[in-house]
Amino acid sequence: MTESVECVVIGAGVVGLAVARALVRAGHDVLILESARQIGTETSSRNSEVIHAGLHYPNGSLKARFCVGGRDLLYQYCAEHGVPHKRLGKLTVACDERELAALETIWRKAEGNGVDDLEWVEEREARAMEPELRCLRAFHSPSTGIIDSHALMLAYLGDAEAAGASLAFRAPVMGGRVTEHGFILDVGGDEAMALECRGLINSAGLYAPSLARTIAGIPPATIPKDYFCRGVYFTFSGRSPFRRLVYPVPEHAGLGVHLTLDLAGQAKFGPDTEWIDGVDYTVDPRRGDKFYAAIRSYWPGLKDGALQPGYAGIRPKISGPTEPAADFVVQGQAAHGIPGLVNLYGIESPGLTASLAIADHVAGILR
Ligand SMILES: Cc1cc2nc3c(=O)[nH]c(=O)nc-3n(C[C@H](O)[C@H](O)[C@H](O)COP(=O)(O)OP(=O)(O)OC[C@H]3O[C@@H](n4cnc5c(N)ncnc54)[C@H](O)[C@@H]3O)c2cc1C
Repeated sequence: MTESVECVVIGAGVVGLAVARALVRAGHDVLILESARQIGTETSSRNSEVIHAGLHYPNGSLKARFCVGGRDLLYQYCAEHGVPHKRLGKLTVACDERELAALETIWRKAEGNGVDDLEWVEEREARAMEPELRCLRAFHSPSTGIIDSHALMLAYLGDAEAAGASLAFRAPVMGGRVTEHGFILDVGGDEAMALECRGLINSAGLYAPSLARTIAGIPPATIPKDYFCRGVYFTFSGRSPFRRLVYPVPEHAGLGVHLTLDLAGQAKFGPDTEWIDGVDYTVDPRRGDKFYAAIRSYWPGLKDGALQPGYAGIRPKISGPTEPAADFVVQGQAAHGIPGLVNLYGIESPGLTASLAIADHVAGILR
């Protein structure tokens, strides 16, 4: 038998849940299909949990727009819904002469993105703010913060369910096809079924491109190639000597081995970057060797043996190691010609920060 629902969101990560919330509040009938047994078991629980201010993304990009807009929406949402978060602020640091120019470039990019609250911090002032920090120059971003991402996802889900959305766990979408009136999906799991819908949001994170390839009728040329870039974290066991987040100037595929704090004050370092062939969350303890050198460029006091292997996350990339970094891709009918379909590709950082802005954009496409 074929079941039927108006709108399906595939994936209960932070973005899928935000999208489901926005759609149901816009009057759609929404079912979320999630292959795992819980919400947010993939990238949404394997990240830095930083509310980014919007410093690092090319001017005019979706990443910049959704980050800056999404950040403000997120702070407001957290305040209204009691989602634990802290506006700790972040120092971006230049540790040698070469990095000074890079620091100025980030500042200008941030200004172009509408980030208007940055403050230059000279060496002595930086040391007064964070006594263990060594740098030549830095700037402070007061609107960078941290968040409990699981509490955020529970809040999105609570809102969505209160407005009438449903969520099915252990319901992997195995494939499907585009029909005259919408879509038929093959849903696996304990209660395998064919499911008919008119609206379909592919928010499957790392699997979004491969999932799109299993849905007959989506033009293959519109589906980007997927790449996986793992980032591992190492945790610091002692009491953190830092009160703010500290970021070196970024590298190509990530933001450099930075220091972030969780809401309990525990420090972690990472993520590094390693291009891999598939989804594999293994943390190789030997990667810690490189962390010590990278961290000591801004924290020379880090002692040998102070870091423990933590966890890994994987960036859902749609551009390869030698290509310029791709923007978020949010494809509606204009891109693939299929009414009712939105594909979300390459939703890497700052997807958590941007989740409410992405959700509003998707709801706008379906309006
Ligand atoms: C190392 C790292 C650090 C990051 N740090 C930050 C940060 O500090 N701040 C920030 O703003 N952003 C950060 N991000 C980005 C952020 O974590 C992601 O953009 C966000 O979590 C993506 O959410 P999502 O819902 O798109 O994907 P996911 O969380 O991966 O959710 C996708 C869901 O789809 C489900 N799924 C997949 N295939 C199927 C299928 N066929 N059928 C049914 N369900 C399916 C999966 O089980 C999963 O639950 C970071 C990312 C990484 C990798």
